[in-house]
Amino acid sequence: MNAIGVDVGGTKIAAGVVTPQGRILDEVRYPTPHSPETLIENVAKAIKEVRDGHEVGGVCLAVPGLILASENKVIFSANLHAIEGIPLKDELESKIGLPLSIENDGNAAAWGEFRFGAGSEADHLVFVALGTGVGGGVITDGVLMRGAQGSGGELGHVTIQATGPRCACGNHGCLEALASGTAIGRRARERAVEQPDSALGRLAMRRQVLGEDVTELAGEGNEVALSVLDETGRWLGVGLAGFVNVFNPEVVAVGGGAMEAGELILEAARREVLLRARPPSRDLAEVKVATLGPKSGVLGAAALARDEFSGEYLLGG
Ligand SMILES: [Zn+2]
Repeated sequence: MNAIGVDVGGTKIAAGVVTPQGRILDEVRYPTPHSPETLIENVAKAIKEVRDGHEVGGVCLAVPGLILASENKVIFSANLHAIEGIPLKDELESKIGLPLSIENDGNAAAWGEFRFGAGSEADHLVFVALGTGVGGGVITDGVLMRGAQGSGGELGHVTIQATGPRCACGNHGCLEALASGTAIGRRARERAVEQPDSALGRLAMRRQVLGEDVTELAGEGNEVALSVLDETGRWLGVGLAGFVNVFNPEVVAVGGGAMEAGELILEAARREVLLRARPPSRDLAEVKVATLGPKSGVLGAAALARDEFSGEYLLGG
């Protein structure tokens, strides 16, 4: 059966009808409103629009934040407070007339990479997405790890430097605070102050330096920008080494917007994994760039919906 995956992000909602083989038949995008009522309305509108003309058996909503699975609710979302505490499943199911499940966006993207992307040949995958924040998910023996309440797999909020910079979650020194797009931007602004004559320093005189600026300058061979990405990669590697030790994955796939910088970050991360992780896990784990890009959330969510609802679909005809 076809299923719909919806990826609810901080700025946009993407919905797609996906075949069992992972082909997106139709896709729509809407801006993410920041009031709960309009949020539900826009998600319902996106689902109805994309469903038009297709036979669909179910929907999975990939949401940014911590989920309480027993209540089908998001209890905390650093980047989308409008989604906190609202009865997503009940309200949406009655509007769209399809069964709907809810999953953390990092978990859904991990499932996408596992089924159709960088982990499609593996049974054990760790996926990390470096964006504004850091999301992630873990698949062990072909099973998505959700934990007791559905809020497991929060790889971005593992503490890797106890006295490190403050994280959006309130803790200090999370992987997210040290190796996200936000962390790249912060590091670049620090370097700009230290070295006002550098390209980053000159850019900082005109406007705020962002993570993307660093990737662009690094691509041109700028030394300061390259060192910012290298430092970010080292911190990423500290986190990945821990994941390699704990989960013994075959593949560690890294995605998200910051992976525009690709090997400029991953090379340093691999070095750190080799230094810190233990054999035999260290020697098995292949650290590579995720392959689905921004579509991993929609593809993974749709695959999760299919797994969950294909039985109901058959029974219901
Ligand atoms: Zn955190």
